[in-house]
Amino acid sequence: MHKDPLLETDLYYDVVVIGGGIVGAGVFRDLSLNGVKVLLVDKKDFSSQTSSKSSKMLHGGIRYLENMDFDLVFEALHEKNLWLKLAPHLCYESAFYMPVFKDSLRPKWMIKIGLFLYDLLSSFQNSPHSMANKEETKKALPHIKSKGLSGAGIYHDAIVDDARLTIEVILDGLEESNSRAINHIGLESFEFVGHRVNVNLKDELTSNTKTIQCKEIVMATGPFTDEILSTHPQLNWKKKLLPSKGSHIWLKKGSIDISSPLVMTPNDGRVIFVIPQKEHILVGTTEENHNGSLFDLTPNDSEIDYLLDNLDQYFPDAKVTKEHIIGKFAGIRPLVSEGDSDKAKTARHHKYYQPRNNLHVIMGGKYTTFRIMAKDVAQNICAKLGFTYNSILSKKPLRIIPNFKPFSGTQATPEQIEKIKSQEFVRTDEDLMRRISVTD
Ligand SMILES: Cc1cc2nc3c(=O)[nH]c(=O)nc-3n(C[C@H](O)[C@H](O)[C@H](O)COP(=O)(O)OP(=O)(O)OC[C@H]3O[C@@H](n4cnc5c(N)ncnc54)[C@H](O)[C@@H]3O)c2cc1C
Repeated sequence: MHKDPLLETDLYYDVVVIGGGIVGAGVFRDLSLNGVKVLLVDKKDFSSQTSSKSSKMLHGGIRYLENMDFDLVFEALHEKNLWLKLAPHLCYESAFYMPVFKDSLRPKWMIKIGLFLYDLLSSFQNSPHSMANKEETKKALPHIKSKGLSGAGIYHDAIVDDARLTIEVILDGLEESNSRAINHIGLESFEFVGHRVNVNLKDELTSNTKTIQCKEIVMATGPFTDEILSTHPQLNWKKKLLPSKGSHIWLKKGSIDISSPLVMTPNDGRVIFVIPQKEHILVGTTEENHNGSLFDLTPNDSEIDYLLDNLDQYFPDAKVTKEHIIGKFAGIRPLVSEGDSDKAKTARHHKYYQPRNNLHVIMGGKYTTFRIMAKDVAQNICAKLGFTYNSILSKKPLRIIPNFKPFSGTQATPEQIEKIKSQEFVRTDEDLMRRISVTD
């Protein structure tokens, strides 16, 4: 990529999308597919914030069943099963065990009903759930605590490389020649001038600045949105987010003897996933209120202790300690408040606001539902700009030839690395690491 990509980009776009996490990537792709000339920018690397800090699952959200959020679960399950077809090299379906103990909050019969409902809401596209007895559960999860174990429910969700899927969604949008995507470009300010928006951008690596004109501006800045909009002199933006931090740790392979992902359901009502991959085991997540800077967060000691304590309760013989941790990361859930503090209830529904006719703010939702979020925005903008919106286009497989297959068990070759450097917006060493590692 050119050293000064901002300086060489056009002065005019139909739409500027701010924020290159999965939501901005989805809006960029959908608008580009429909012929709109779009510029996508991110202050940091694409997908370097929340969209590479998730539990790395495409899922319906089994725990939302308890809140009766059936529409959300239905939508997310259908999206999960769609992406398994659209990007099979970046996600795969896996069985998840939900162990049940004599003193578990949810007894076996309740789990069975829940898992049936989960499959029903997927229109039976999920591989079917089943129930395991104690011996079968011990076989799949040899290290699990025996005392009080009565068995497990088994259901199916998908595991995804969240950072790479975001990049490949952007690359797919770039197949349309009119559009452009540049990382490390921050939004400094923007003004509404007549029917246009002047967008003042700054290259965070070179400090070059440039003003781009557009008809519509999209804020896909997830947890950062309130910070950007609440100080804007032409807007009367009331803060809408309830920043909630979630942390994960990566354990060395073999720290716990398990052959399948599982869900731990501690008595505080949370859920913690333990997901073995080829080389590592992912454990998370926590849930903490967060104040202060939202960029580049790390887990704190109490979050790590919380995860280790829960592992100890489920796997007392494994004796997992801080020594087994080989990596950690944290992100902020962009939970949107609906005027009450019941986060679990309001949490994952996405919200689309239009505080001005040509300002589109999309936030909340889940990684899994990004295509639907993008569709809401793209459909509206296409109608406004006089483009015919075709909803089938975003349901087509990604058209690019992948440079790297994260779950293949192989490392990127020097040849692949050269391709990634020249084709995948690599501007810093960290950008390159994010493209070729699943443990970000
Ligand atoms: C701990 C945790 C676990 C999760 N697990 C899952 C899961 O397993 N499955 C699932 O479906 N969902 C999950 N989620 C939710 C999911 O990760 C988020 O909903 C999704 O990633 C949000 O994407 P986004 O694009 O809105 O935000 P982000 O990915 O944060 O993107 C916003 C972008 O805006 C950029 N930005 C900010 N300010 C500026 C500026 N001034 N100028 C330009 N750019 C700017 C940032 O750099 C950032 O890249 C999880 C979330 C968390 C926190």
